[in-house]
Amino acid sequence: MKFLENNDFKNKRVLVRVDFNVPLDEDRNISDESRIVAAIPTINYVLSKNGIVVLLSHLGRPKGNDKAFSLLPVAKKLSKLLKKPVEFLNDCIGYEIEKKLELSKSGEIYLLENLRFYKEETSGDRVFSEKLSRLGDVYINDAFGASHRPHSSMYGVVRYFKQKKYCGFLLQKEIYNLEKVFKKTTANSLAIIGGAKISSKIDVLYSLINIVDKIIIGGGMAYTFIRSLGGNVSSSIIEKESLNDAKEILKKAKQKNVEILLPIDSLNTNEFKNNLGVATNIFNIPKGNMGLDIGPKSISLFQKEILLSKTIIWNGPMGVFEFSNFSKGTRSIAEAVCSSTTNGAFSLVGGGDSVAAIKKYKLEEKISYLSTGGGAMLEFLEGKKLPAILALS
Ligand code: AMP
Repeated sequence: MKFLENNDFKNKRVLVRVDFNVPLDEDRNISDESRIVAAIPTINYVLSKNGIVVLLSHLGRPKGNDKAFSLLPVAKKLSKLLKKPVEFLNDCIGYEIEKKLELSKSGEIYLLENLRFYKEETSGDRVFSEKLSRLGDVYINDAFGASHRPHSSMYGVVRYFKQKKYCGFLLQKEIYNLEKVFKKTTANSLAIIGGAKISSKIDVLYSLINIVDKIIIGGGMAYTFIRSLGGNVSSSIIEKESLNDAKEILKKAKQKNVEILLPIDSLNTNEFKNNLGVATNIFNIPKGNMGLDIGPKSISLFQKEILLSKTIIWNGPMGVFEFSNFSKGTRSIAEAVCSSTTNGAFSLVGGGDSVAAIKKYKLEEKISYLSTGGGAMLEFLEGKKLPAILALS
């Protein structure tokens, strides 16, 4: 794989696939600009090498050409951040766009309209990929968050850039930091896995057993594990079809001498609302109640483990942290990860909700690395070769 160093992009149109899939609020304002900020080093590099920046991205999951998903607000935001003009083009393929870019000059920055206005983007269509390839002389992938998808702009287009395809700075940083965890560079490594559903995390749990020394399991998925051990979790979220996997994961972990730490208590309520919770033993939740957060004893248990760890990877909240009364577990775990980092541990947090939690508690500066990928990060840790990264090699 080629990285960015000593390039000369003079008068070259550099197609940069970025991940500008930013969250939008109800009024469609950008509520978190981190993904835009994360692409700036690569953009500035191309400019410093006299190239023309042509940015490609998707935003959301539009059904066809739905202007509610236009990237225009992102162009405006990027222009503000760079303090330079960014020209927004209202399509991402076609004669008009090709003509416009043929006349472009060094130092200019263009952002094309949402790739997903065409269904051919996600289907990895050959013709669409070829049309995209006509817009650039050089290709850079800097969209780690979409690298697990074999989409046209991530995978299909790359075949047209044989010796002229590069790994951008953000993608390089993501791979570097994830490999620190994947290659197990320290003893006392810990994974903290939470979130609503076990089914989306089964593969990563199997893989983590071969990577880390200990795994903390919290959030909604913990209840399937407790149920698989014969616990009574009453109305808590469980996935019956994953009960066997839960048992198997516990068995495999034991064989490999990997300790799995499950919550010992749970904070419960009788409806999915921001009520005051009552803590009970997690193996015996009262009838009609559901656990929406880990309890105080679990928090202490998990905090101790986190403080003993030298490498920590975290994906998925410990409870329904969106409800203030059920946010203590997630917040306490986030704070413990920060304390451990201050004491010298390497910490990596990824996944939409976990990163949102870190930001909500203003702890970004205290984590070693915040990944911009959710699904991509999980697949990387599952040991899968991500198609877009493979295409660059
Ligand atoms: P995921 O996308 O799988 O990481 O799940 C994140 C979601 O899990 C968040 O929106 C949380 O509110 C939710 N969650 C965490 N713990 C629980 C729980 N005990 N019951 C229901 N949902 C939960």
